[in-house]
Amino acid sequence: MMRVGHGFDAHRLVEGRALVLGGVRIAFERGALGHSDGDALAHALADALLGAAALEDLGTRFPAGDARWKDADSLELLAQCASAVRAAGFTIVNVDATIVVEQPRLAPFIDRMRANVAARLAVALDAVGVKAKTSEGMGYTGDGAGLAVHAVALLERRSTDEGRAAGH
Ligand code: MG
Repeated sequence: MMRVGHGFDAHRLVEGRALVLGGVRIAFERGALGHSDGDALAHALADALLGAAALEDLGTRFPAGDARWKDADSLELLAQCASAVRAAGFTIVNVDATIVVEQPRLAPFIDRMRANVAARLAVALDAVGVKAKTSEGMGYTGDGAGLAVHAVALLERRSTDEGRAAGH
């Protein structure tokens, strides 16, 4: 059985914060405001994975305001979500994401983001898609106020017997 999941995240871009996407620290004059490291790519991918398995979402698992997740490495949170999905009896087939931001230009960093995500999800590099788009100056992603990430994930239940053993 195949399961598809969707994730979305948006963060404000503010001065005095590092810009981290897919675990890659990107030199830019502003970074994502957030309780964790503000890695919106990791957050959207995590929600896509959790959503595909109908598990509780990222914000429920790792509540903002909980001191344990202050400045947390979001790739580590993503890895924990992948473990939860596997524990529920699923294999990760692939994930794909689109980052929407006007600046900075992300093309030079995409391959490193994909490699980081693939490593933390324990999947092949060709199972991780990451693209960057602008919104042509329109809206909060276009005027520089913030960035957004859309993501999908495809899961496959390993086998009926394993799924049953996992309580599904
Ligand atoms: Mg977030």
